[in-house]
Amino acid sequence: MAEDAYQALNLQTLGSRLGALPVLRARVGNDPGLWQIREVGDGNLNLVFVVTGPAGGVIVKQALPYVRLVGESWPLPLYRAFYEYQALTRQAARAPGAVPEVFWFDPDQALIVMEYLHPHRILRQKLIAGERVAGLGRFLGRYVARNAFLGSELAMKSAAKKADVALFAGNVDIPAISEALVFTDPYHGARLNHHNPALDALVAGLRADVALKTAVQDLFMAFASNTETLLHGDLHSGSVMSTAEDSRVIDPEFAQYGPMGFDLGMLIANMVMAFLSQPGHRERADMGPYQDWILSVIIDCMAAFRAEFTRLWQTERTGMLYPACLFEEQGHSSDPALQRLLTRIWNEALGFCGIEMHRRILSLAHNADFEAIPDPVLRGRLEARSLAMGRDLILARGAVGDAAALCALAGDHDEKG
Ligand code: ADP
Ligand code: MG
Repeated sequence: MAEDAYQALNLQTLGSRLGALPVLRARVGNDPGLWQIREVGDGNLNLVFVVTGPAGGVIVKQALPYVRLVGESWPLPLYRAFYEYQALTRQAARAPGAVPEVFWFDPDQALIVMEYLHPHRILRQKLIAGERVAGLGRFLGRYVARNAFLGSELAMKSAAKKADVALFAGNVDIPAISEALVFTDPYHGARLNHHNPALDALVAGLRADVALKTAVQDLFMAFASNTETLLHGDLHSGSVMSTAEDSRVIDPEFAQYGPMGFDLGMLIANMVMAFLSQPGHRERADMGPYQDWILSVIIDCMAAFRAEFTRLWQTERTGMLYPACLFEEQGHSSDPALQRLLTRIWNEALGFCGIEMHRRILSLAHNADFEAIPDPVLRGRLEARSLAMGRDLILARGAVGDAAALCALAGDHDEKG
């Protein structure tokens, strides 16, 4: 298979093409005739097959040479599967147990065979359905902190980190998607944009707001130029799979080096949008407690992020940055430096959060939290709240001191608030 020219798999060919792979024989079963194969790729870009059989199951994820959401008119290089594989293995080392285990990677076929998470479901669907996940905030905060810290020169030797920045710099086309869809398109009439017509006046106002566009570009410059750490790059609630008490992070194909606040901001934005969209999904009586739970996830996530980042600062600060020889070894606490860094990461996270709250309503890839609300009038009211809160975060994030203040702001923007 490794020598074969690339060919997209399908339900008919998967068994015969992968039937001899030792990893599938061991994990699914020796006889491909007994495999059950389903395509579950609800995503925007790739083919994702669940393959089950007498011995168990695996996921087979294969990149397509174009953007699935748009079609063959938007080509996308297959090499992105290589970066997803590289990111998955780094994240598995930095945050053990947080991502699906990789069993096999075939660069020519742009194909990853990985652990089948079940009965896990996509977190976004659970948030729409009103289901709780125990330990979610703690899991997410810890995952982001470990990847942010251990993927940076706070921990890594400089030569190794620079070599990795060079490796990931080969991935041009995937960052280009974020650069356009997240940071640029929402703020002008780009061809692939679409939005609820009820928002027309508001959208025109945002696109005419030079202070806003300038603040977004300041954050874009940080995103494009700052190689602080290896990001997941697309850490929204569609990239988390959970049961009632276990969570994992999937799909790091947007991995790139960037600022530490980016993953955190995108994650929080998707929790805030889940919060703001609740009036579209359930009756008032059940809504309050569930919305409180969503906010508690944000609080827990930030507390876990700070706690884990602080622990790593104290125990694994082995890189060239903020070295002990400048602080502890001279009898000086490095804690003020840590607090300053955490404040800067939080401030940037809030800015990226605001941008994500805009682009999911204005640009190409919308989120089901709003999109699944059938009444366009109600949907428009809730989307307008996300746009307004996003603007507050981008322009006045300095006033939002901590996660509690962010949750209070979300409460002010809530439909019942
Ligand atoms: P894309 O990059 O195309 O968006 P994803 O990696 O997000 O693809 O996968 C698409 C869908 O496939 C996910 O939403 C999820 O339902 C399913 N999926 C992906 N990876 C796994 C996994 N390891 N275990 C179970 N289901 C998975
Ligand atoms: Mg993806």
